[in-house]
Amino acid sequence: MARNPRYDILFEPVKIGPVTAPNRFYAVPHAAGMTNSMPRMRAAFRETKAEGGWGVVCSGYVSIDPSSDDAPLPFATLWDDDDIRSHALMTDAVHKHGALAGVELWHGGGSVMNRTSRIPPLSPSGTSWMATHVNFMGNQRPRIMDAQDIRSLVRWQAAAARKARSAGFDVVYVYAGMGYLPYEFLLPEWNQRTDAYGGSVRNRVRIVRELLEATHEAVGGHCAVALRISLEELRARPSDVAASEAHEVVELLADLPDLWDVKLDSSPTDCAPSRFTAEGSHEPIIEFVKKVTSKPVVGVGRFTSPDAMVGQIRRGVLDLIGAARPSIADPFLPKKIDAGREHDIRECIGCNICISSWHDGVPVRCTQNPTIGEEWRRQWHPERVAPAGSASTVLIVGGGPSGLECALTLARRGYEVTLAEAADEIGGRLRFETRLPGLAAWGRVLDWRRGQLERLPNFNLYRGNELSAEEILELGNTHVVIATGSRWARMLYSPLEVPFGSLAGPNVYTPDDIAEGAQLEGPVAVFDFDNYYMGSALAEHLAKAGHSVAYVTPTGHASAWAIMSNEQPQVHRALANAGVSLHTLSRVSAFEPGELTLAAQFTDRESRLACRSLVIVGARFPNDSLYHQLVEQQDKLAGAGIASITRIGDALAPGAIVHAVYSGHRYARELDADPQAPSFRRDAPLRVTPTA
Ligand code: ADP
Ligand code: SF4
Repeated sequence: MARNPRYDILFEPVKIGPVTAPNRFYAVPHAAGMTNSMPRMRAAFRETKAEGGWGVVCSGYVSIDPSSDDAPLPFATLWDDDDIRSHALMTDAVHKHGALAGVELWHGGGSVMNRTSRIPPLSPSGTSWMATHVNFMGNQRPRIMDAQDIRSLVRWQAAAARKARSAGFDVVYVYAGMGYLPYEFLLPEWNQRTDAYGGSVRNRVRIVRELLEATHEAVGGHCAVALRISLEELRARPSDVAASEAHEVVELLADLPDLWDVKLDSSPTDCAPSRFTAEGSHEPIIEFVKKVTSKPVVGVGRFTSPDAMVGQIRRGVLDLIGAARPSIADPFLPKKIDAGREHDIRECIGCNICISSWHDGVPVRCTQNPTIGEEWRRQWHPERVAPAGSASTVLIVGGGPSGLECALTLARRGYEVTLAEAADEIGGRLRFETRLPGLAAWGRVLDWRRGQLERLPNFNLYRGNELSAEEILELGNTHVVIATGSRWARMLYSPLEVPFGSLAGPNVYTPDDIAEGAQLEGPVAVFDFDNYYMGSALAEHLAKAGHSVAYVTPTGHASAWAIMSNEQPQVHRALANAGVSLHTLSRVSAFEPGELTLAAQFTDRESRLACRSLVIVGARFPNDSLYHQLVEQQDKLAGAGIASITRIGDALAPGAIVHAVYSGHRYARELDADPQAPSFRRDAPLRVTPTA
């Protein structure tokens, strides 16, 4: 198919200082959990984006000196010759496809704890980000930088820029965003200096200017020099000489960088979840930059629609369409637009599981794209699958995320696939969950797979078909995949912090009951020890339906795990806005319609709440009775022509949608594979420099 001429503008080259991006698709720096100890995985992961048509592909954050050490969070380094070789694997891989390679040089300043290097962290005035969540807290305050430290910082940046050039990077960053060191100089909360680097905006911006100048000099006109800067806080601050301090900063530096990479300040606003924030949320903050500088501007907005991208360029907001998440969910997004296949784009759903993997300290994973991070390790390509290894037929029971992903990948491989779904519509848990506040965009998991499957002639769908073990035996497929999901339990929570006991009385519900249409009497209490989105989304949903709702959790926060997916601050705002009362560090100890008894998690002190309906969002268990009925009839399986019965997704181990999709994909990739082959390759650091 030919490209829609409306999108031609996206494929224009853009000059960035001394280098030229082949098009306007720019995969911005983002944390991907791949440190220098995984150089081959990292190179293959970024190569896939370049192969998919991104004109510029950037690294994640790369430390310029051991005084910037984010451990245990996974960060890269450019400290020595081994590091140069490690990054060169990526630049070579990216260049093979005609793309430019960018590197985000980084110093974390007072926002890192230097837990590995044990060097006291550096900061303008000895203050640091304190954090409201223990995952990000530390006990050592940074030391105040003196004039010598400032000179060292500039020297480290220049040295790292020279190494970046040697490693083959085309775009070299100065990073003044997200609470990291140069950003700390920009804001008075961090910077109370009385020397030439503190006070007026002109003084506060001085370090960024010096870093840019030093980087230009270090790369000697061979690489473009980009400035990545957070403008959200600065934009909110009035200025005597410009429309805001953000305007003043951009005016002061205007044409000094070859490229402006503009963003917001905190991970929850910059990488905002779709549950609370629409696409294009950066525009009101960054829209002015292009009017001030003559240099190209790149920014993000979780853009997946080519029309929205064209709009950004035509309206003079951006020159390059930046993407982190859309390039993870679909590394081939640019190529699909180029080929007139925009309907094939696997759109990011904005769930932020990708960012949670960085917080977890592991390579990136994605709800929509199970192949991400597995390009080298498991040799999974997002667009290519191995042909079927046999003429086997496969029956999949259950059309939720795991069953659908499994069906799609098997059908792409060429297997004859039949999927039976008990309900009238496919989608599994998504049928209900996408109706909860803010979760509509998650429906893309279903929409994309349904759209792809509809075009495959070897895929057969039977809806409204609840299969029994006997029927499965009669159907006689070679392989049977049980993707029948899970059910929430009416279990309570023990002081040992495990699900325990149960409440069987009247007016006790689970999310399954609400999905099935249970009508609740208010006031309602939601007891959440699942800790992800379901508890808070249900509380919000029930409050919006007019109930008086109390949210109870044994943890210290609502949706405690959602700190990992950048959702938690907004969960608290959403619950407050919906009028939900919050009862943290509390567990339910007894309930009768009318009264709920809570026990304080650490003291056991009891309190009571008026409550007529209790919703427990806690333990989930597999819906796997069908599986057990089948395996118990081993004697009949061979006669029925069935060679294997396998559980996938929640029917195997209940988890988030990302786990279900991955499970379905993995089964489909590995069907008929050599059972002796190792399941994945292990990467190792490149080390040629002898250690003393
Ligand atoms: P997962 O997240 O693992 O994909 P879901 O709970 O989202 O699991 O989906 C499971 C799907 O399986 C549901 O749509 C459910 O209706 C379907 N299902 C459960 N039992 C049967 C059965 N016996 N026959 C057909 N479909 C079933
Ligand atoms: Fe988008 Fe979710 Fe994938 Fe991240 S994990 S890229 S937010 S779909």
